[in-house]
Amino acid sequence: MAPAQNPVSSKHVAVIGAGAAGLVAARELHREGHSVVVFDREKQVGGLWIYSPKAESDPISLDPTRSIVHSSVYESLRTNLPRECMGFRDFPFVPRDDVSRDPRRYPSHREVLAYLEDFAKEFEIEEMVRFETEVVRVEPVNGKWSVRSTKSGGFSDDEIFDAVVVCSGHYAEPNLAHIPGIESWPGKQMHSHNYRLPNPFKDEVVVVIGNFASGADISRDISKVAKEVHIASRANGSDAYEKLPGNLWMHSQIDVARGDGSIVFENGKVVYADTIVHCTGYKYYFPFLETNGYMSVDDNRVEPLYKHIFPPALAPGLSFIGLPAMGLQFYMFEVQSKWVAAVLSGRVTLPSIENMIEDLMLSYETLDALNIPKRYTHKLGKSQCEYLNWIAEQCGFPHVEHWRDQEVVRGYMRLGSQPETFRDEWDDDELMEEAYEDFARQNLITFHPSRFLESGR
Ligand SMILES: Cc1cc2nc3c(=O)[nH]c(=O)nc-3n(C[C@H](O)[C@H](O)[C@H](O)COP(=O)(O)OP(=O)(O)OC[C@H]3O[C@@H](n4cnc5c(N)ncnc54)[C@H](O)[C@@H]3O)c2cc1C
Repeated sequence: MAPAQNPVSSKHVAVIGAGAAGLVAARELHREGHSVVVFDREKQVGGLWIYSPKAESDPISLDPTRSIVHSSVYESLRTNLPRECMGFRDFPFVPRDDVSRDPRRYPSHREVLAYLEDFAKEFEIEEMVRFETEVVRVEPVNGKWSVRSTKSGGFSDDEIFDAVVVCSGHYAEPNLAHIPGIESWPGKQMHSHNYRLPNPFKDEVVVVIGNFASGADISRDISKVAKEVHIASRANGSDAYEKLPGNLWMHSQIDVARGDGSIVFENGKVVYADTIVHCTGYKYYFPFLETNGYMSVDDNRVEPLYKHIFPPALAPGLSFIGLPAMGLQFYMFEVQSKWVAAVLSGRVTLPSIENMIEDLMLSYETLDALNIPKRYTHKLGKSQCEYLNWIAEQCGFPHVEHWRDQEVVRGYMRLGSQPETFRDEWDDDELMEEAYEDFARQNLITFHPSRFLESGR
């Protein structure tokens, strides 16, 4: 990356969203000397982590007139990774001396929200946020960006910014499984986005589609009150069939749903189910974005995007934080934001449009050569550290710490091998120790690491 030729300049930047991504983007932009306005339609910071007992009026979120609820958090949700590796680099997510807080290594969703509120307070970010203000249109105008927003009372405003950083999240627009015959199937359906509590499934036979983080959690949550829970997963082979402990069964994916209420799995088994719960992920969705056809979302690939952040011909005025799916979410938001802030100030320059497009085409060719479906374009999985370290190098940020990388690897292995107990029984004390020693060395914690290591369970 070539050093900037021009003097560092301050820009007027709009950030859409005050979730984890928007909060750290605002901090990094502000630190770099930009003036920042953050828009969020919620009343408070935290995004996805603001639990709402209310779900959307349409349980599968297809009705375009439904009431929108942003959060997908369910009452029993605890983090799916250890807290040490979840936090921002210079603001570790460690237990607080406060009885109202959750000190566990895999804390509840409330503790994550409290951490984000602490972060916003520490870096005075709330002052930059316009709450209850929805961005309804973003478009390029004469080299700048026009942003139209609507206040909850209905008042609408058009403003001009030098740049827009999109941090609107991508866990609010459900993706439903395609099930042959579902039109005539008489049962109820729900997407995990609208799942909150198991009570409505009492004594029911439930089919849960999907068995990654949410699917594994929700099927076990429901099994506490339901008669039977059958998990259908396309990750299983077509003959897969296994009785799990309790009232749970594991199957292949669904072959067909029938008008008599039955669900037929590819393994040939048949169950008469009351409800199907789709734990089948989400779609990228940017209803406010107007780029005259330059950008699109096709089969869940947002394109064209250089390094999942910059649309080449619209960069650096438009950028996206948080698109890739990977374990180190908050860390990724932080490093991506540092790069965007540095590019906007002119301290770091991007390659030419042609070179960015060439790089992008090469990345698509690599996916094709590896037979990775288009819908997984933004799923980085094992290459997450390579990606994060590459961005870090662009803006002079250190590489991912050894313990952080390994906690994710070992954490996901545990999630696969011991889905019921991975949050309370672990085998990587040495990584936790390395993390706390690292925090202590940098004076990021005020207590001796041994205190937490003794009482973290
Ligand atoms: C069920 C579930 C569990 C998860 N568990 C973990 C975990 O344990 N650990 C982990 O690291 N990650 C987890 N994740 C991933 C999680 O998404 C990220 O950690 C992170 O919180 C996402 O932050 P974000 O800022 O990108 O999006 P969000 O938190 O969704 O924030 C986006 C914000 O943008 C606002 N917004 C959207 N559109 C507009 C608009 N047009 N105008 C104004 N405001 C707008 C929304 O109101 C929201 O506040 C989980 C995700 C899900 C769905």
